[in-house]
Amino acid sequence: MLTRRTVVAAVPAAAAAGSVQAQTPAAPPAAGSAAEQAPGFYRYKVGDIEVTAVNDGFFHRAVEGLVRNAETGDVKKVLQEEFLPETAIQVPFTTLVLRSGGRTVLVDAGNGDSGAPTSGRWMANFRAAGFDPAQVNAVVISHFHGDHINGLRLKSGQAVFPNAEIHVPEPEWAYWTDQAKMAAAPDGLKPNFQNVQRVFGPVAKDVKPYGNGKEVVPGLTSVAAPGHTPGHTAYMLASGTSKLMIMSDTANHPALFVRNPGWAAVFDMDAETARQSRIKLLDMAASERAQVSFYHAPFPATGYIAKEGAGYRFVPVQWTPAV
Ligand SMILES: [Zn+2]
Repeated sequence: MLTRRTVVAAVPAAAAAGSVQAQTPAAPPAAGSAAEQAPGFYRYKVGDIEVTAVNDGFFHRAVEGLVRNAETGDVKKVLQEEFLPETAIQVPFTTLVLRSGGRTVLVDAGNGDSGAPTSGRWMANFRAAGFDPAQVNAVVISHFHGDHINGLRLKSGQAVFPNAEIHVPEPEWAYWTDQAKMAAAPDGLKPNFQNVQRVFGPVAKDVKPYGNGKEVVPGLTSVAAPGHTPGHTAYMLASGTSKLMIMSDTANHPALFVRNPGWAAVFDMDAETARQSRIKLLDMAASERAQVSFYHAPFPATGYIAKEGAGYRFVPVQWTPAV
């Protein structure tokens, strides 16, 4: 969703860099403290698979120019109806950790230490949920925008998950590693090519590209959802009779783009293809009453899709103390 340019512009020079060790969680705030939120993780089950949503903060995006094919006034009207700020939208980030068969798998990696000033708590949240980056067996990446891949590698160059296999969508790998495509790309897109090189360059020979309809890790099958980027991928997570449709960036903030699936976020590289992918998957989720998760939905970023009017409605799950 973010271009590297917007990320770079958003990060103050003094932003904390440092090592994985430096990102160990701060002591929890004192009981009753109003200064800081509790750690952002939430667990649920999909059959035998334990899913943990891990929050990585959010990114402020001006509403002006956010939707390519709608008047700003119409976008603001929807935000008002959704009780959201009308000048800048908060776009949240939520990664998933899957635990099954003694293995720990991440779906997308968050912003790492390269994110917006309003992100950066991912590692603390991940550790607070009981995880250790050295114990991650695999990271499955949905697409190559910085907010999904920067968590793989610190700005210092250090790999964050040293023992993890890295799985990437084959068409995404083909596109962003093509020197001719980079040379021909408009200036605004070139930083993303360079960031892909930075993140994956040191491990390029070990990266495992996967195709459409492949069971990438047990229970997690790739579903092509192109348009947002050329190889953007959603997933079906299945265990027994339970399933979760992991929508990745098929829709950006649901308040806008689930409600109005024809609206084109400025982050979608091919707006028409993205619209087709979005409607196809939202329609499937609604008709199957399937549980869904979105990378950019409000935390814990999981719920259901109902048909409503000319679009859809995102219905969040109800928080429950029993996993
Ligand atoms: Zn994104």
